[in-house]
Amino acid sequence: MKELYVNAPAKINLALKVAGLRDDGYHEIKTIFQSISLADRIKLKKRSGGIVVKNSTVELPTDEENLAYQAAEIFFAENDIAGGVEVYIQKNIPIAAGLAGGSTDAAAVMRALYDLYELEYDCSELRTLLAQIGSDVPYCLEGGTVYAQGRGEKLEFLPFIGEKDILIVTPQFCIPTPEIYSLYDQMKIKNNFDFDKLLQNIKADEKINWDLDYKNDLEAPAKKICQDIKDIKDIIKKTAAEFYLMSGSGPTVFAVYKDRSRAEKVAARWPRKNDFIRVVKTIDRY
Ligand code: ATP
Repeated sequence: MKELYVNAPAKINLALKVAGLRDDGYHEIKTIFQSISLADRIKLKKRSGGIVVKNSTVELPTDEENLAYQAAEIFFAENDIAGGVEVYIQKNIPIAAGLAGGSTDAAAVMRALYDLYELEYDCSELRTLLAQIGSDVPYCLEGGTVYAQGRGEKLEFLPFIGEKDILIVTPQFCIPTPEIYSLYDQMKIKNNFDFDKLLQNIKADEKINWDLDYKNDLEAPAKKICQDIKDIKDIIKKTAAEFYLMSGSGPTVFAVYKDRSRAEKVAARWPRKNDFIRVVKTIDRY
């Protein structure tokens, strides 16, 4: 096998609770990750040596700053292989948008390299390797519906919530995650929502009661620096969405609809011309 194509799916957070500040300066979180069908498409080709990363957009680095590059470096160091790879990333997921776009590229490249070099792997060992790159990279290895704790790296696989039609709206505004967390600390936010109820619902394979209005603790600080989040939510509020929330550290807002045609109608009539807008589906563990 000399070349390989893989998908790298994005994720949304169905709820996110900040559970405290740790001694190392990072925040403990509790969240439910859910993969969606929006995905980057990655081509990998064997080389005799060296790592080469190319992207479909000039906005992304091609060197060690690219998380996919870091995954390849770890792969070659870990397996002590004489060889290299050329990676081409067709970027379909908005960058720095709360959709884990970089993390999913890293996880997909790591897994694809094992396949390209025909090496066996164990997913839990790969997750440990991927945790060096970032806290939500281990999740992206297999995706699905997952309860995450710690910095997002302690994972518990949950039953798939089922195929749901989701509208994704990302304004043209990049949010640096560290800034959101420090604003969160300053704002002393207390959101009272029943995270455990959502977790129990999903664990018991029950229909999610969206009326319980699950929250993302990072939404208030993100709104402070990005007015678009509120504007987008105000538009979605007037549609027949079952539920809507900001994903991760933002600024993407997702909305859950009863059927695809409703979501498509909202997308077709979307009034803000510069937003990235897609109708996607939730997907199971891959
Ligand atoms: P998360 O939900 O994990 O916080 P995000 O969607 O907010 O992630 P990313 O799209 O992963 O953010 O990008 C975060 C940063 O990572 C950006 O500053 C970007 O330049 C950098 N980055 C490095 N490699 C990649 C990549 N392959 N794709 C996207 N971003 C990358």
